[in-house]
Amino acid sequence: MDLDILKRKLFFMPDATKGAVRYLTTEQLESTGTEAIVTNTLHLLISPGPDTIQQLGGIKKMMNWNGIVFTDSGGFQLFSLLHSKKWEGEIDDNGAVFKSPKQGDIYKLTPETSIDIQMKIGSDVLVALDDCRDTEIEREDAERSVERTLEWAVRCKNHFEKEYGGTQQTDKLLTCVVQGANYLDLREYCAKELVRIGFDGYNFGGYVVNKDGELVEEEMKVVIDNVPEDKIRYAMGVGKPEDIIRGVGLGYNLFDTVLVTRNARHGTVYTSDGILRVKNSEMALDLKPIDSKCSCECCKNYSRAYVHHMLRNGEATALTLLTIHNLTHYQELIEKLNKQKLERISKK
Ligand SMILES: [Zn+2]
Repeated sequence: MDLDILKRKLFFMPDATKGAVRYLTTEQLESTGTEAIVTNTLHLLISPGPDTIQQLGGIKKMMNWNGIVFTDSGGFQLFSLLHSKKWEGEIDDNGAVFKSPKQGDIYKLTPETSIDIQMKIGSDVLVALDDCRDTEIEREDAERSVERTLEWAVRCKNHFEKEYGGTQQTDKLLTCVVQGANYLDLREYCAKELVRIGFDGYNFGGYVVNKDGELVEEEMKVVIDNVPEDKIRYAMGVGKPEDIIRGVGLGYNLFDTVLVTRNARHGTVYTSDGILRVKNSEMALDLKPIDSKCSCECCKNYSRAYVHHMLRNGEATALTLLTIHNLTHYQELIEKLNKQKLERISKK
């Protein structure tokens, strides 16, 4: 698989958190134009477990998915759950030890085990474990998070190279996460140090929107200004269509958000005329498709009225159709932005 394409083209990756995009079969996922997905290391660690996935031939075989698979490091979710005390566990310089809330089993996530888990899952692009914090934290905490993230990045890279032969032997890519909360100088320092260590990609980590829901553009700019253009530049968790456009403008090329599928499940869809709420009563007799400019299975075959009726009655088919629609809308946006990018390059 040519993974270098991830460094050149724009991609939007739906979240297949537990190895599935909710309510879609893999074939339906492909029909939306999706070429890459991101799965959640922490969730897959707990169930079905990396050993089981490995025995099943890896995540791609398990899912019957021929596209690209990213795994996150497990850091973002775990550390936000532990820092907010929603989950029981401890974090120190070596990593995290935590208890799964359902079964009560004890797990250990260190830079080395994070790489081992991602290798067993069988993803194409791995992410080095980072120490993720809230955006608005004291400087001292942000400094500690950056230092730990850098130490762990080195340990991940060393382990990936020593145990598996690195990018050359595995045909996989290893990316890292830039931390630093909202301290611009720390973001810059973290980005520069990670570039010095050397990775296949640099991901903007932490929270991408502030308390008011606005994209943290200044922080994102400082990071992108300090990483090479010929590597993956992943804006993790971005975002709304207008934020993706801004992210592309800054120079990021990879995006993911739970919003697109979560909104679909709540009946909120993106169209060429803006946002539409399919549950609203004015849809009850509307024979138009969700978006007349969209070519997805939902818009080609069904009226707003029918989907509205199914949604109001809790029919899971409505969630499938709206997820297909929202993902198709996102992938069409990405395709348009890709074309514009290519045109700009050819004019230069
Ligand atoms: Zn559609």
